[in-house]
Amino acid sequence: MSTAEHHKILFEPIAIGPKTLRNRFYNVPHGTAYGTLRPGTWAAYRAVRAEGGWAAVSTEFSSVGPSSDEWPLHSSDFWDEEDACRHRLMVDSVHDHGALASIELHHGGAQALRRLSREPALSASGLSSEVPPPSYPPETPKTMTLDDIERVQRSFVNAAVRARDVGYDIVDVLAGYGYLFAQFLSPFHNHRTDRYGGSLENRARFWLETLSQVRGAVGADCAVATRLSIETQGPWGHSIDDSVALVRMGDPLVDLWDLNFGSSLDWETDISPSRLFPEGRNLERIGRVRRATEKPVVGVSRLTSPDLMAQAVRSGLIDIVGSARQSIADPFFPTKVQEGRTEDIRECMGINYCISSLDRGNLACAQNATAGEEFRRGWHPERFEPLTNPEVNVLVVGAGPAGMEAAIGLARRGAEMVHLVDATEHLGGHLRPVAGLSGMREWTRFIDHRQIQIDKLPNLQFIPSTRLDATDVRNYGASHVVVATGARWLRTGATPGTHAPLAGLVEDADWVYTPEQLIVEDQRPAEGSHITVYDTEGYYMGAGLAQLLADEGYEVAVVTPHVQVAAEADMTLESPTIRAALHRSGVVVHRNISLTATHRRRVVGLGEFDEPFSLETDALVLVTMRAPVDKLYQELISDREALADSEIQAVHCVGDALSPRAMAEAMFDGHRLAREFESPDPAIAHAYKREPLRLTLQGYRQR
Ligand code: ADP
Repeated sequence: MSTAEHHKILFEPIAIGPKTLRNRFYNVPHGTAYGTLRPGTWAAYRAVRAEGGWAAVSTEFSSVGPSSDEWPLHSSDFWDEEDACRHRLMVDSVHDHGALASIELHHGGAQALRRLSREPALSASGLSSEVPPPSYPPETPKTMTLDDIERVQRSFVNAAVRARDVGYDIVDVLAGYGYLFAQFLSPFHNHRTDRYGGSLENRARFWLETLSQVRGAVGADCAVATRLSIETQGPWGHSIDDSVALVRMGDPLVDLWDLNFGSSLDWETDISPSRLFPEGRNLERIGRVRRATEKPVVGVSRLTSPDLMAQAVRSGLIDIVGSARQSIADPFFPTKVQEGRTEDIRECMGINYCISSLDRGNLACAQNATAGEEFRRGWHPERFEPLTNPEVNVLVVGAGPAGMEAAIGLARRGAEMVHLVDATEHLGGHLRPVAGLSGMREWTRFIDHRQIQIDKLPNLQFIPSTRLDATDVRNYGASHVVVATGARWLRTGATPGTHAPLAGLVEDADWVYTPEQLIVEDQRPAEGSHITVYDTEGYYMGAGLAQLLADEGYEVAVVTPHVQVAAEADMTLESPTIRAALHRSGVVVHRNISLTATHRRRVVGLGEFDEPFSLETDALVLVTMRAPVDKLYQELISDREALADSEIQAVHCVGDALSPRAMAEAMFDGHRLAREFESPDPAIAHAYKREPLRLTLQGYRQR
């Protein structure tokens, strides 16, 4: 197949200063949590994006020195020769696949973490101590002296020269996200009275001087770019008009503008979740700034549709498509567009699991199980090793994320026949009804992608509307069984904190509802009821149901033991907007409350200091914990004789049926089983490579 006519513009090369991008796909800076601490994982992760066709592949923020030590956020530090060795591995791996390598040079200023270096925070002016995000200790940063300004500029220049020597093609100076240069640009942070403060020209001076010095240092060997957040919310930010002026000032100094939005305090405006913001919503504003420059612009806007990308380039809003999340979900996105295989694209769902997993110390993706596993487990996003013995008939029971992923993986590996059976009519398991909650429609991309792949695989058959019990499974004629029967929400009100049923919860309590009763069975309390949602889980379900019920006209209250509603969604950048929407819908919130009992028209509990809490309510929705639906699995494995009498050689359990977790982890489970199907005991994961690979005592002493 060949490139669709209307996508061809995306494959026109474009010059950026002395370098040329082979197409218009730019893998923009984004964190991995691997950084230079896990150089093999890092290099392989970046390299596979180059292999997949991205014309440029960038590092995440690469700190230029210890005053911007970002541990434990794993910047890809670029302080010295030791760091340079690790970067060289990444650069060479990217070059092997014909992409340009870019480095994003960074200083966090007042927002740098400095936990290991223990240096004072540097800031345009000391007043910015009022600004650092809440997780930071209360401290007053050091106002930078002229010497400090020169020191930081020298570290940028040294890093740029090191980058050139390592082989980087593009040096991108980070002036966005509320970090040091952005702090100088902001009148909220910058109260200086010298030539680095006051007017916009003065506030831009530190950044522009640095750009000029970097440019002078790398000469024509590297293209120079700068990442500017063109609009940030709140008093510390700047407007699009300011950005237009800044771009005019900086234009002679750069070869490429790398434009994004927001600061670390309003990240969701840039890394916008699909639940809250439509794809492409920033394009028009980037286009306004682009009109102020003679240089190419790479812009991001949660772009996932090649049609929209091509249209944005054609209409002059951007020159180059910037993407982080789509490249995580599908490293081979450009290749698939070029080959006219757009139906095979694993579209990013915008659920920001990547962002939350980054916070937990390991970038992972809910669409792509191989993200981050390229080196560690040797997984390739597009290639599966054929089974040594393909003469297997696999029965997968349950077509949720885990079952679908296991079935597809095994079919791709060449299993003779895979039957994917589900009790319901549809693929998708728990995800299908969940995607019906407000704003969550794009989560069905997970199902859509797999539906297309299942339809294409001749050795994989989906069998709907078939509930199997243990006898059915034993008589099915399968050689291998994968149980992926999912989980269900508890109706007892037990929580991770109590491990016990809520007092007063009688079996036939008709005022109590589980999420499944509401969104699968469509049950509802009487019209006009007051409903209390008790949410101890804190992710999307409790807030999603509260919003749904409020939209339907019920009087809704949320009770949660957490300090905030949807506290888990802080890490996916969804929570501020979700909370605001609940507030606008009149949902009353009771925080820091643990329920102890439920009665016919009342729930009672205890507050943070054991103070009594009581709330009149007509109905109670319990979003506390999920239990595995593993009866089938337990029955199959416990009756060993019956199993031995059947043709079944092995029974596996994956996903929520094993242990209810995030959707991404259920999917990962199914994927791993498919990859490790022929290992002696697939219940135990293969050992994966860990870094540093080897540290001998001798090596340790020599350091
Ligand atoms: P996971 O997240 O682990 O993939 P889900 O809860 O999303 O799990 O999906 C589990 C699927 O298994 C559901 O679609 C459910 O209908 C199906 N299922 C559960 N028990 C059976 C059974 N005995 N026979 C067939 N399908 C089943």
